Amino acid sequence: MSVTLKTLNVSPQDVRRVKYIRRVDEIPNIPEEERERLRKVAEVYVFRANDYYLELIDWDDPNDPIRQLIIPRSEELNDWGQLDASNEAANTVAQGVQHKYTDTVLLLCNEVCGAYCRYCFRKRLFMDDNEEVTKDVSDGIAYIREHAEVTNVLLTGGDPLIMSTRRLREILQQLREIEHVKIIRMGSKMPAFDPFRILRDEGLQETLREFSTPEKRIYLMAHFDHPRELTPLAIKGLAMYQACGVTCVNQCPMIRGINDDPDTLADLWGTLSHIGVPPYYLFQGRPTAGNEPYEVPIVEGWEIWRDAVTRESGLAGRARFAMSHETGKIEICGVDSERIHFRYHRSKHPENRGQFFSCYRDDRAYWLDQLEPVDGSFVPVGVTFLDGTCRLPAVSRDADSVLVHGNGNGNGHRDETEVGGLMVPGRGGCCN
Ligand code: SF4
Repeated sequence: MSVTLKTLNVSPQDVRRVKYIRRVDEIPNIPEEERERLRKVAEVYVFRANDYYLELIDWDDPNDPIRQLIIPRSEELNDWGQLDASNEAANTVAQGVQHKYTDTVLLLCNEVCGAYCRYCFRKRLFMDDNEEVTKDVSDGIAYIREHAEVTNVLLTGGDPLIMSTRRLREILQQLREIEHVKIIRMGSKMPAFDPFRILRDEGLQETLREFSTPEKRIYLMAHFDHPRELTPLAIKGLAMYQACGVTCVNQCPMIRGINDDPDTLADLWGTLSHIGVPPYYLFQGRPTAGNEPYEVPIVEGWEIWRDAVTRESGLAGRARFAMSHETGKIEICGVDSERIHFRYHRSKHPENRGQFFSCYRDDRAYWLDQLEPVDGSFVPVGVTFLDGTCRLPAVSRDADSVLVHGNGNGNGHRDETEVGGLMVPGRGGCCN
């Protein structure tokens, strides 16, 4: 029997509100001298968590993966990477609107997340001076209405499920009034950070049921990185999304210290397959400023993916290993002793569509641009190869002006936003 709203047993403990924590000083499990160090990191890359998620941490284990995911680390301040590592700015057609692939538009409709993943590739959106997100989506809706080729809309940001149900409903309603929009996706880590969001909010349940129809589904692109995030509550939350007619899949990056081993990934994907949430993508991390401690080189990542993907059933092994490059979604198909093989799964430039190509193997490389195409291989349009020198451009040391701007609260980040109808502190980006 499939799960329905009636058969899902939601108890009073399942419907509480999480308490948001925005300063590392509020976490007594971290020793004072360490907190002092981490405070400096959080002044550059904002910190936010909640009591539910922090309770998942084993504080006796300094390498606890949930801790790595949410608690800042000093190494984030190393010079490494760029704030917009895949040049999303180049795809921006209006404030809060990105159009990269013909049929798909991204609406960056919110600038906050349920908590902030330390490895986020959109952490630039958390900065005070960033204007890439807009709460007024009217320009985005008009743009989509005028472009009949757009059949897919991805709500992202920030996390769309942290918006109030009223705002989310308005956006879904407007999108559903556009005949050519077939699929609406919501990229969200709220099912991991705050399973209560869906369990407690009957208005959200009704909204999803109304707008995810048999003919036109809403997809939840969930973001679980580690099997320990799949708590009984999180699983119940996912079942609720499904009971509301939402199709759930999972995508996550490979992250050093969190899921960079085959056992962990196989465990994660196995459990996801048991609960009917297919693994969709495993992403190569983008070389983003602040992310050095979390990144895994391409070859090592592929070897981990290869070992993980064959350990469980075929249903668990469906995650493609891919990078979201400026030029498209590029699958990392294979590695041999001399070469790395790629295929465009989605492409911005028509010339690259579906193309296979190969680069000389360099085990130090984190990103395509650090490699060199093999002689005779197709050379993708729009990629600036670095002749195999494997350098990563450092983040601008204008960082003080880029990253931290006064807003009166002294931490360089905006103060508050709506969360399921509440105002809570902080801002963020989204995970697709
Ligand atoms: S955008 Fe996604 S990856 Fe980034 S902080 Fe928010 S939930 Fe995490």
